Amino acid sequence: MSKQMPHNDEFTRIHHPENDEQYSGLQVNQGVEQPPMVNPYLKRRKRPTLSVSDYVEGIRAGNTSVLGQAVTLVESLKPEHQAVAQEVIAKCLPFTGNSRRVGITGVPGSGKSTSIDAFGMHVIGRGGKLAVLAIDPSSERSKGSILGDKTRMEKLAVQPDAFIRPSPSAGSLGGVARKTRETIMLCEAAGYDNIFVETVGVGQSETAVHSMVDYFLLIQLAGTGDELQGIKRGIMEMADGIVINKADGDNRERAELAAAQFRNALHLFPMPPSGLAPEVITYSGYYELNIDKVWDMIDRYFDHVTRTGYFQEKRREQEKYWMFETIDEHLRANFYNNPSIERMLEEKQRLILENRQSSFVAASDVLKYYYDKLSNR
Ligand code: GDP
Repeated sequence: MSKQMPHNDEFTRIHHPENDEQYSGLQVNQGVEQPPMVNPYLKRRKRPTLSVSDYVEGIRAGNTSVLGQAVTLVESLKPEHQAVAQEVIAKCLPFTGNSRRVGITGVPGSGKSTSIDAFGMHVIGRGGKLAVLAIDPSSERSKGSILGDKTRMEKLAVQPDAFIRPSPSAGSLGGVARKTRETIMLCEAAGYDNIFVETVGVGQSETAVHSMVDYFLLIQLAGTGDELQGIKRGIMEMADGIVINKADGDNRERAELAAAQFRNALHLFPMPPSGLAPEVITYSGYYELNIDKVWDMIDRYFDHVTRTGYFQEKRREQEKYWMFETIDEHLRANFYNNPSIERMLEEKQRLILENRQSSFVAASDVLKYYYDKLSNR
């Protein structure tokens, strides 16, 4: 073996939101290079290359292995994979849109995975099919995301009606989000009528998730002393519902108190565009208490927005948003990934620091160079 697996304490703790001292729960370590195969003589069976129609037929038939491979194509950075992925998505498009898309956010340790396991089992128990996806833009650094990880959702992981996929790990938040958004479409075409998108509520990723789901659920905890201060106002404003987890045992009363505080705080917020004020409910993901109440709350929302037409309106807005996001992502990548632009930007930064050029002149020089020389390539 050329490389030894590191000993447990040799794993490097990396910079990741989940590793912040203020959070309990899992820690994220630097990924490790995979050791070579144990038996070098064992021939790895090469997967036959699937055609676009193989993918589409497999997905439509609900074949999870084909679906998984299609998602891998969506996540691939190789242009030839992207080309096939885009064709597959285009062919799946008529079969998309028939699901309830629910975003779930909360700080590390708030119980997202435990709750998704419980919520998911509830949804499957009602006869639904569920896909659990995740957005964790920091996962590139950790070489793989722990969000949406099967091992964290023990009950769901063995359900044939659940498809669990961790966050795509390459690229910018915009790139990661686009891939998740495309994966939602593939899952819908495969018949998943419930989609959960998990994210950590400590960064920008919740905005991305908000822009791709119908309902945004914020998981909170009681008794951390910063019930309201610690939460960014922006997240509260995005939430269609707030749930206080770990309302079990001694913690029950404190959870109720926190819920009352949240209800009061929500009075100060303007009515959301859905026309339905967010509800606040206490529950326990671990002990599976009040899961049905949480889900009744979500049902009420979907009934309301379907009746008022807001459901379709929001989806149309999101479609537009994603067109602009995709253009944005493409332009940025085309610009910043260009080696001569990279060099020029470095030089310009130096000139700005040395007070030899203003930032506006520098910017217009770079843009002029880009438009004159590069943008039509
Ligand atoms: P995540 O980081 O948000 O995904 O949180 P986890 O689901 O990993 O949960 C973090 C910790 O809280 C774990 O030790 C869980 O066992 C615990 N936990 C999660 N839900 C509950 C709950 O409802 N009640 C109690 N008492 N503990 C919980």
